[in-house]
Amino acid sequence: MQIPGNIDPVVTPRAPVQRADGRRDVLGLDRDELKAALIAVGVPENQARMRASQVWHWVYHRGVTDFAAMANIAKDTRALLEEHFVVSRPEVVTAQVSSDGTRKWLLRAPDGNEFEMVFIPDADRGTLCVSSQVGCTLNCRFCYTGTMKLVRNLTPGEIVGQVMLARDALGEWPSAQDGRLLTNIVMMGMGEPLYNFDNVKKALNIIMDEAGIQLSRRRITLSTSGVVPMMARAGEEIGVNLAVSLHAVTKEVRDEIVPLNRKYGIEQLLEACAAYPGANNARRITFEYVMLKDKNDRDEDAHELVRLLRKYRIPAKVNLIPFNPWPGSPYECSDWDRIERFSDIVFRAGISAPIRTPRGRDIMAACGQLKSESQKISRAELDRIAAEKQAQIMEETVN
Ligand code: SAH
Ligand code: SF4
Repeated sequence: MQIPGNIDPVVTPRAPVQRADGRRDVLGLDRDELKAALIAVGVPENQARMRASQVWHWVYHRGVTDFAAMANIAKDTRALLEEHFVVSRPEVVTAQVSSDGTRKWLLRAPDGNEFEMVFIPDADRGTLCVSSQVGCTLNCRFCYTGTMKLVRNLTPGEIVGQVMLARDALGEWPSAQDGRLLTNIVMMGMGEPLYNFDNVKKALNIIMDEAGIQLSRRRITLSTSGVVPMMARAGEEIGVNLAVSLHAVTKEVRDEIVPLNRKYGIEQLLEACAAYPGANNARRITFEYVMLKDKNDRDEDAHELVRLLRKYRIPAKVNLIPFNPWPGSPYECSDWDRIERFSDIVFRAGISAPIRTPRGRDIMAACGQLKSESQKISRAELDRIAAEKQAQIMEETVN
């Protein structure tokens, strides 16, 4: 049987949509780019570095989006900035708050593409789940995002813009080091971040920059379905924590549920994990494992998982994610006692294997209800449902 699903990076790179007014977004420009952009619009060269730092300070420490408020910049320069630049935010289509504090946003880019972002508060941290693409080309069979037809890479500005918008909503300006609500970021939203490497790298570097959002690389996790050739670069050039969507321990099953496995197999993937720069016992690699009834949830699978992680000597922890069904999904979630048994086996081998509990259920109720409607509605609407569903899944995957 030919299993549907792309295994090659077929993302259509598209130039960011130009704004109708021709102005350029400051978000997503690194400091050198901003400096060059300032010179290009007439800021004297000997002032450009200082002006770029000032703008960055207002943008990333104060959350200012209006150049007129940048008080320490000369009035005529502010006017020049106003004429040529904007400090954008993604447009909010819907914003919901769950009774457990989880927040979810459906966002829209200027070209109409929609993507999701979720914030999950906990006692000791707040995690923002960020999207890297609209849709995903990889078509993992259990994943709703993979069913979306529209795919494009999010720009660095759109990725950074998600974090900025979350901080707006949480009232986190001016930026402080202590007492932040948004303390962690996971690249676990829509899309495969390693198929949008350059933009993700640039965005995360701005997020980590001392003069930017100042979030430590230890508080950022990038999740990949196993784009092996990019993993070493991710470790070296970005240096964040790694999560790997493993989901199966045999070639047969992983080929089916994560089609990318036909290109980069399990052994290759685990070798890349073992070599991941910076992984050690204090900074373990997270293996995500979605529990699919009668597919990947046997005792033998749990034992094999342990064997593989030991064989490659990977400092690992395992996240067991109860499968979240969606309209037409070809799998069911494993029974609860099966998941617990699986978790026990892995735990007993000395590897942490918590079961992820669902969060924010109440604001997601609509997803299930739309099921019977899904045949009648447009492609765009279907993609929106997929985006919403993915947000729900994101909540259940994180933490
Ligand atoms: N593309 C990247 C990051 C986004 S997916 C990756 O695959 O790692 C984020 C996580 O959600 C992945 O572990 C993915 O496998 C999981 N996921 C996707 N659909 C799911 C579903 N229906 N139920 C439970 N987890 C799901
Ligand atoms: Fe893409 Fe990740 Fe979903 Fe697979 S699980 S289709 S890689 S978003």
